[in-house]
Amino acid sequence: MRVVQIRVSSAMMSYGSPVFKAMLGNDFKEGRQLKTASRVEIQLPDDNARVMVIICQVLHLRHYALPADLSSSEILQVAALADKYDCVEALRFASQHWMSKRMDSMGTAMSTPDRVNMLAAACLLHNADVFRRMAQNLSMHTRGRVPLPNIGGQLAVVDETITRINDAKTACLREVAEFVEEIVEEQCCVRAAHDSTSRCQDSCTFAEVRSSALLLHLRAYKLWPVTQLEQFSLAELFHRSTKLEIKWPPNLRRCDGDPPFHCVANFAVSARDLSGIFGDKARHLAVYYMHAWSAPGLA
Ligand SMILES: [Zn+2]
Repeated sequence: MRVVQIRVSSAMMSYGSPVFKAMLGNDFKEGRQLKTASRVEIQLPDDNARVMVIICQVLHLRHYALPADLSSSEILQVAALADKYDCVEALRFASQHWMSKRMDSMGTAMSTPDRVNMLAAACLLHNADVFRRMAQNLSMHTRGRVPLPNIGGQLAVVDETITRINDAKTACLREVAEFVEEIVEEQCCVRAAHDSTSRCQDSCTFAEVRSSALLLHLRAYKLWPVTQLEQFSLAELFHRSTKLEIKWPPNLRRCDGDPPFHCVANFAVSARDLSGIFGDKARHLAVYYMHAWSAPGLA
């Protein structure tokens, strides 16, 4: 095991961290030794040396010595130690800088583990804004279930939020699946629905041609069959639903109907309106599920 010695000022450590203040005060052996000795050694075998150095640099106002960029797992480690030593306030701006930099540089390319790390870090660092953004991103961009963060001990707020995100994702996926099924059922049974006012000629192929064209489009946009929906993120589903552009094939022809009835074509929704229905539904769901995270999960 590598041992790293960090020489610090007890005054600076005490100023930024009430925990170190207590350790270096009269209630602890090290604190009492410090009254007479010029220096004492405190062993912190559980803490990561690199992360501890970063925290000490901040507490000593040596901002020029700080790394410009940290990975999401390093940010989480800094957050966990800042929480342990109660110096979240002292690290407020430094941690905000690292989190903003991470989010700006990666944007929507952030991976799910990256976002989970940042969510947990934001919770420990009491950063409601980053917490909300990461919760929103996780709910929109995760394929499959969001995993719990890999940190020692439990973070109730994070665990609860991830559970809520997974529940909301499941509910939203079900809503999309039911919506697509409803449309297919309604549009592919257009003949039966209008039996009392329509009666096509036997040779009429309108309903069949239209139904198979609709299913082909939905397949092409991976919205049909609905059993495959759960392998995509909500953002992907919403994007494809918004982009869906249904066009009927040239062989879609209406018949004259058997007088006094009309061809079912007279009652069918236009391709353009049908495409619009998918877009509207996607936009509606996106707004709903984005707003679900607008309240910060932080106490
Ligand atoms: Zn017809």
